[in-house]
Amino acid sequence: MYDYDLLVVGSANADLVIGVERRPGAGETVLGSDLAVHPGGKGANQAVAAARLGARTALLARVGDDGNGRLLLDSQRAAGVDTAGVLVGGAPTGVALITVDPSGDNSIVVSPGANGRLTPEDVRAADPLLGRSRVVSAQLEIPLETVVEVVRRLPQGTRFVLNPSPPRELPEEVLAACDPLIVNEHEARVIAGGELEGSPEDWARALLALGPRSVVVTLGAEGALIATAEGTIRVPAVRVEAVDTTGAGDAFTAALAWKLGCGEEPAEAAAYAARVGAVAVTRAGAQVSFPTADEVAALGGGDR
Ligand code: ADP
Repeated sequence: MYDYDLLVVGSANADLVIGVERRPGAGETVLGSDLAVHPGGKGANQAVAAARLGARTALLARVGDDGNGRLLLDSQRAAGVDTAGVLVGGAPTGVALITVDPSGDNSIVVSPGANGRLTPEDVRAADPLLGRSRVVSAQLEIPLETVVEVVRRLPQGTRFVLNPSPPRELPEEVLAACDPLIVNEHEARVIAGGELEGSPEDWARALLALGPRSVVVTLGAEGALIATAEGTIRVPAVRVEAVDTTGAGDAFTAALAWKLGCGEEPAEAAAYAARVGAVAVTRAGAQVSFPTADEVAALGGGDR
């Protein structure tokens, strides 16, 4: 009945990365390494992660009519994502200018570019795509009004998954649609309005009280926890040697959204997502670090 297991509505950015000895201060110029350009953006990352696992995946996004836009389209297609919903033009492709120092600390400036031009009207025009998708996932690197429109046009029976990153307070109608709302600690704090007390279980319950049907809190190397009206369940992380955590949350979210859509129980789906996140942290980079289903199955190491 559905053509797509997952439709991702979100951002696509080119990450422009330069290694530096020291990140520049105000008015300062420093020389750095050769420029590396990587496909990124939370929407594009989630779509690649899902498709690489074998999910039938489509992306609704906007890129510029430029080289960075073509780089992003190429990486989506190489992973097997249907890019018919990727709109081209209106502004330059979004970019993240990233400087990284030898300790791994970075400074990042994001120009949303075309991501800021993905409008509610674009969502309305993509109605057929929404109607063909079992699960729709979104993040907040596109205008909030666009995410609101997604929620309003969600067909009956289609699941909505939101990773509110970068975080901001959310309107009730968006919160009420989330199944689940997926947050890390920082995002949880902002969504909760700055107040977070007690254990992660307490945070999850506080977020659940804001209206989502379910909440997932990701805890990095500590795993995750999932909260529904029935209670909270801890999902242990898989013990791995972490090399680079970039994109782990995107891979986790994509895997969880896909598995929930397939009808798996929340705890089972989240355990699978934790394995996907664990593989992703064992490799450098974002999209290049995302595993295939075979690589997830082959992951050694016990649960924590
Ligand atoms: P975000 O990148 O959004 O902050 P997290 O860092 O919490 O998200 O990572 C998402 C998920 O990826 C975690 O819930 C966990 O399952 C997995 N993960 C992240 N870091 C590690 C790690 N060091 N070891 C094992 N699993 C990890």
